[in-house]
Amino acid sequence: VKLLLACLLSALPLLSHALDLPEHRPVPGGVAVIEIARDTQQAPKAWFEERRVITVQDGNRWVAVIGLPLSQDTGKAVLKLRIGDDDEKIKFEIQDKKYPEQRITVKNPRHVNPNKDDLARIAQDSKRIGSAKRHYSETAPVSLKLKPPVYGERSSAFGLRRFFNGEARNPHSGMDIAAATGTPIKAPADGVVIEAGDFFFNGNTIFLDHGQGLVTMYCHMDEIDVDKGDRVKTGDVIGQVGMTGRVTGPHLHWGVILNGNLVDPEFLLSEMPFQNKKN
Ligand SMILES: [Zn+2]
Repeated sequence: VKLLLACLLSALPLLSHALDLPEHRPVPGGVAVIEIARDTQQAPKAWFEERRVITVQDGNRWVAVIGLPLSQDTGKAVLKLRIGDDDEKIKFEIQDKKYPEQRITVKNPRHVNPNKDDLARIAQDSKRIGSAKRHYSETAPVSLKLKPPVYGERSSAFGLRRFFNGEARNPHSGMDIAAATGTPIKAPADGVVIEAGDFFFNGNTIFLDHGQGLVTMYCHMDEIDVDKGDRVKTGDVIGQVGMTGRVTGPHLHWGVILNGNLVDPEFLLSEMPFQNKKN
C-alpha cells in the first residue's frame, strides 16, 4: 500500500502541472481560453460549433482552448461540455476586432481570376485542405506554445482584408514571414505530417497535426523535406522557404488552426519570429 501511495504521489505533479496557455483573446481570428471545471481528474470534453476543442488540465482546473474564425460574429458564443455524464453549456463573449486592408499586385492573372481548369483543381485542393484543417486526434498537444518555424521579416500580418489586383478576395488567414528561398523551416512543436502536396494558391504545402485539433500549415515552400505520415520533433527541418503558388516574393505563409479555424499565430507563439532589420 505504501509503495502504491508513493507511486501515486510522484505521478500527481505530472498530472497537474500548470500549462503555458495561449493568451485569452476572444476576437474573430483569436483564441478563447475558458475555465470549464475544477478539482476533477475526469477529463471534460468540449465542442464549439459542433467541433471538438482542446481541453487541458492547468493546475487544479480544466480549461478549453477555442479557435475563433475570422468570420466569427461578435457577441455571445456557446461552448458545449460533457463532464462525466453531465452535459453543460458555457456562454462567453466575443469582442470586436478591426483588421486593416491590404492591396496586392500579382503577376499571374490566373491567380486572381482562375480559368476553368484552375477552378477544377482549386475545388480538389480545397477538399484536401479542408479535411487537413478539420483533422482531430485525441492525443493532447505536448505544448500549447509554438516556436517560430522560421525567423525573418514581417511581410503580411494575419487578418488583413485583401484585394488582389484591385479585386476583393479572402482575408489573410496566416502569418507571413519573409526569408530567402532555401531557408530551413523547422517544426514549431512535436507533430505528425497529415498532408503534403502542391496546391494552386498555396504552392508546396504541408500540414502538421499536434493533437486535439491543433494543426499547423506551411505554404509556398521551395522544397518539402517530409512525407505524409512522418513524425517530427520540435526543431526538425520540414522544408524550405520558397515562392511556389500565389506569391510576390519568397516567404513562409504560416497557418495555425484550432478546432478547424485559422487563428492568429501570434497568440500561440513563444516569441515573435521577426528580426529588427532587413537581412
Ligand atoms: Zn500569407
